[in-house]
Amino acid sequence: MPASNPNHAKVVIIGSGPAGLTAAVYAARANLAPIVFAGHMYGGQLMLTTEVENYPGFPNGIMGPELMEAFRAQAERFGSVIHNVDVTEVDFSRRPFIVRTAEDEYTADSMIVATGASARWLGIPGEARLRGRGVSTCATCDGAFFRDKHIVVVGGGDSAMEEALFLTRFGRRVTVIHRRETLRASKIMAERALNHEKIAFVWNTAVEEVLGEDNTGALKLKNLVSGEETLLQADALFVAIGHDPNTAIFNGQLELDAAGYIVSSDGVRTNVQGVFVAGDVYDIRYKQAITAAGMGCKAAIDAEKYLESLETHHKAAVPA
Ligand code: NAP
Repeated sequence: MPASNPNHAKVVIIGSGPAGLTAAVYAARANLAPIVFAGHMYGGQLMLTTEVENYPGFPNGIMGPELMEAFRAQAERFGSVIHNVDVTEVDFSRRPFIVRTAEDEYTADSMIVATGASARWLGIPGEARLRGRGVSTCATCDGAFFRDKHIVVVGGGDSAMEEALFLTRFGRRVTVIHRRETLRASKIMAERALNHEKIAFVWNTAVEEVLGEDNTGALKLKNLVSGEETLLQADALFVAIGHDPNTAIFNGQLELDAAGYIVSSDGVRTNVQGVFVAGDVYDIRYKQAITAAGMGCKAAIDAEKYLESLETHHKAAVPA
């Protein structure tokens, strides 16, 4: 494949959150001229956040979108080519690997998959309108904005318990609303939340609407047993009903677990040699920008080593 072919790269990265763009910085600085498919909604989940206060290096915080613009500029500075388009199809059964977009086809000697995960939303009226103004899916990101306020968390799994426990640091009180009367969360997390003096539970209840003009002010609730509808004053609504990894295009191409996350024995390699993974598309545990960035760094270093091993192998195969 000629080096000048603009549709071929030694490394193709899919995804442009902290994992994908950190991989791009490292791959570009290793002179690998990566192509990054950033997606039409580039920048990942931080584009949906307001102020990021826990990313090291920014003692006064930084806005999520501003941080991602800086990541992108840094990746471009060293020669990454970034396309704001979605990948529609991949073929990892051939070498070089094939990556298709709606308009074009590309080939790659190695791949880094960093497509992230998307938080599930309830899909109720008022939720999208008040997102970033009381409605959030990230307590770590937004909890500190609700000091001494009444915070509501929706969900009954480990994420909801973790969010609720974390939010007790800030809120005057925290109410967990769950659609059933038993929690899905692990026993230890459930007990911690159930025994916490600041946390109250509302069972068998769905949140049906978020109310408020400029900021979240109340929630319309429906008891799923009695059908009774009530209003609950709330300054914030944290939706913690799970994440879905963005892996639809890798179905049948990479090993995925039952929840759709990419399987990796070491958090970098996948079951296809030369295809690496980084960030939330693999990580169900930490899900932080800084951990995703760290994984992106590791994936790029391993992709570089893999490409070196290919060259060594190729040289050894050619008779002197
Ligand atoms: P999850 O276990 O799938 O729980 C999602 C919760 O949200 C469930 O209680 C579910 O209700 C509820 N839910 C789903 N859709 C809903 C809807 N449309 N309306 C209202 N409620 C809805 O997801 P998760 O809590 O994010 O956990 C994912 C995985 O990560 C789990 O394996 C978990 O153990 C792990 N995790 C572990 C930790 C930890 O150990 N510290 C922390 C976070 C996550 P139902 O119960 O009725 O289905």
